[in-house]
Amino acid sequence: MSHCLTARSIDHVILERGEVANSWKTERWDSLRLLTPNWMSRLPGYQYEGDDPDGFLTMPETIAFIERYAGAISAPVRTRTRVTSATRLDDGYLVATDNGEWRCRSLVVATGACNVPALPPVAEALPPAIQALTSREYRNPGRLEPGGVLVVGASASGTQIAEEIQHSGRPVTLAVGEHIRSPRVYRGRDIKWWMDAAGVLDDRYDEVDDIGRARNVPSLQLAGSKDRRTVDLNRLTGLGVRLVGRLAGIADGNAQFSGSLRNQCELSDLKMNRLLERIDAWATEHGLDGEVDPPQRFEPTRVDASPPLGIDLRRGEIRTVVWATGFHPDYSWLQAPVLDRKGRIRHDGGIVESPGMYLLGIPFLRRRRSSLIDGAASDARDLADHLARYLDHRTVGSGA
Ligand SMILES: Cc1cc2nc3c(=O)[nH]c(=O)nc-3n(C[C@H](O)[C@H](O)[C@H](O)COP(=O)(O)OP(=O)(O)OC[C@H]3O[C@@H](n4cnc5c(N)ncnc54)[C@H](O)[C@@H]3O)c2cc1C
Repeated sequence: MSHCLTARSIDHVILERGEVANSWKTERWDSLRLLTPNWMSRLPGYQYEGDDPDGFLTMPETIAFIERYAGAISAPVRTRTRVTSATRLDDGYLVATDNGEWRCRSLVVATGACNVPALPPVAEALPPAIQALTSREYRNPGRLEPGGVLVVGASASGTQIAEEIQHSGRPVTLAVGEHIRSPRVYRGRDIKWWMDAAGVLDDRYDEVDDIGRARNVPSLQLAGSKDRRTVDLNRLTGLGVRLVGRLAGIADGNAQFSGSLRNQCELSDLKMNRLLERIDAWATEHGLDGEVDPPQRFEPTRVDASPPLGIDLRRGEIRTVVWATGFHPDYSWLQAPVLDRKGRIRHDGGIVESPGMYLLGIPFLRRRRSSLIDGAASDARDLADHLARYLDHRTVGSGA
């Protein structure tokens, strides 16, 4: 957004509570690599230019990429400046920070989608003897107690963490709710290449059937790795991970799992196949069938005939629980009547229901790619255009 505002000669400042690339520096586990290939690390006026476009950046490389970008665009960032409140004024906003106050005519909320781990209410009933941490607190298996681990949540974070912990020798049980399976490589090309080329990532917020639902869809079960392996549930059970259904409750120290594991897996296989069908149709339509491998379909997810419906957490079999159950944004600092009853900002493709306020960087803000680094460019351009028109209109309207 800063690059787009500079390009339109709009004076602005970026307030950051930590440092540049703060979330990548402080909220990710050690072995994580981006799950988007390097060529997808594209920001307005800047992109990955290394010699491994099909590889996946490590966290230090991701941090360096964002830091270089901030330098290249001379982003006017005030680091170590936490916004504590933003209040609507007649002609703009009053922004209070732990480092002074600001007045602005327009406010862009780009505080991220993953500020607060979304723990299910059952988390409170976990016996205190069990070590509990969120995917944001998790760093590596060496920091866990010896013994069994229950990972709750089977999307990108949960499956990657489950695989890594299982490799460390701690037996993993994975509680599986709604998830979306995906191969890493399909017909010889990266799945993200297909999604980009076939326009899947360009699906628009005002054209999908149910945008509320689309914004809550979990992340694809994908991992970035040198061997480009698929990290789906079949891979995990092959490694010895035990699958159970969604964690539905904890009563008297007994973890209770939903009986819907098979259904969830069938649904996930179905959604994956729908995506592959869309890709195949696009490949045929664009004459690619001769150039790429033939269409593939994958073995359905293997599920035990009767997976456990409960585990007594007081028996010592499980020593650690890792919550990989997603995140919420934190807008507690926003003192404007723009939140719905679930605490989400009411907006139309990032244009907030408060004059001059914009939202950036949340899932499916304007396009399916909005949740990715690669989504920032198109969203920021659209919103910067709107913002520039808003400021022009205000200037004319106020006679200034
Ligand atoms: C585990 C994980 C893996 C991911 N992997 C990928 C991937 O492989 N590829 C990809 O494209 N995307 C990935 N993403 C999504 C990625 O995080 C987003 O695309 C990207 O970070 C969005 O950038 P952002 O600047 O909008 O949000 P963030 O990176 O979250 O930045 C928000 C910033 O706002 C600051 N902030 C928050 N509140 C305040 C406040 N009150 N005052 C001042 N500053 C504040 C934070 O410190 C932070 O620096 C991943 C996300 C997670 C959680």
